[in-house]
Amino acid sequence: MIESRELVLSWPGGATLRYPDIRLEAGETLLLRGPSGSGKSTWLALVAGLLTPTGGWLTVHGVQPNTLPQAARDAWRSRTVGFLPQGARLSPALTVADNLKLVAFASGHTPDPAHEQRLIDRLGLQTLLGLRPHQLSGGQALRVALARALLPQPAVLLADEPTASLDDDNARQAMCLLHEQAAQQGSTLVVATHDQRAVQALPDARTLWLEGGA
Ligand code: ADP
Ligand code: MG
Repeated sequence: MIESRELVLSWPGGATLRYPDIRLEAGETLLLRGPSGSGKSTWLALVAGLLTPTGGWLTVHGVQPNTLPQAARDAWRSRTVGFLPQGARLSPALTVADNLKLVAFASGHTPDPAHEQRLIDRLGLQTLLGLRPHQLSGGQALRVALARALLPQPAVLLADEPTASLDDDNARQAMCLLHEQAAQQGSTLVVATHDQRAVQALPDARTLWLEGGA
């Protein structure tokens, strides 16, 4: 469950973002919508415990991430949160296979080879494993980033503008896979987007509208 009350983030010398209250049950899907600059990426970073609120409070699966000491917070994040960053952000020097291996190395989580193979098969990555990120299309890179986010079987999956650089077919496929995989793992899914195609792909999702900072 993700719950927030009077959540505020003031960027030093910049915008103050005030968020509407939300209570999202485990396994629900949320569309985080609003124009560019309205605070969608910042909200995801707050939920992932990458930023500390300057006001209000936020709990993510029973934990207030900002109250944890740094090391405990990092460990909590790698166990709990799968993050699909805007533009995939794979490690450019590593092959797809090594990008996936890096997850276990970086998070200390024990690899589950059966789960990994299932993701590789379902996301169509088998023939891509030896390639480097610059050799991938946008849709392929996103599928690799999705596998990377899902490897630790996170309770919460956060996707930042997942369809931004994709054509219509790939955008539809990406949203379908995101939703399917989150449902299969029982993960709470949050998709930050201002893309109508992403919105249409999740007709049953709840929506949190952001208006922007002041
Ligand atoms: P969105 O993802 O909806 O486009 P962001 O969360 O990226 O919005 O940004 C919301 C606002 O927060 C921006 O308009 C900007 O004023 C401020 N902001 C975002 N990132 C930073 C930063 N690193 N430093 C200072 N201000 C920032
Ligand atoms: Mg953003």
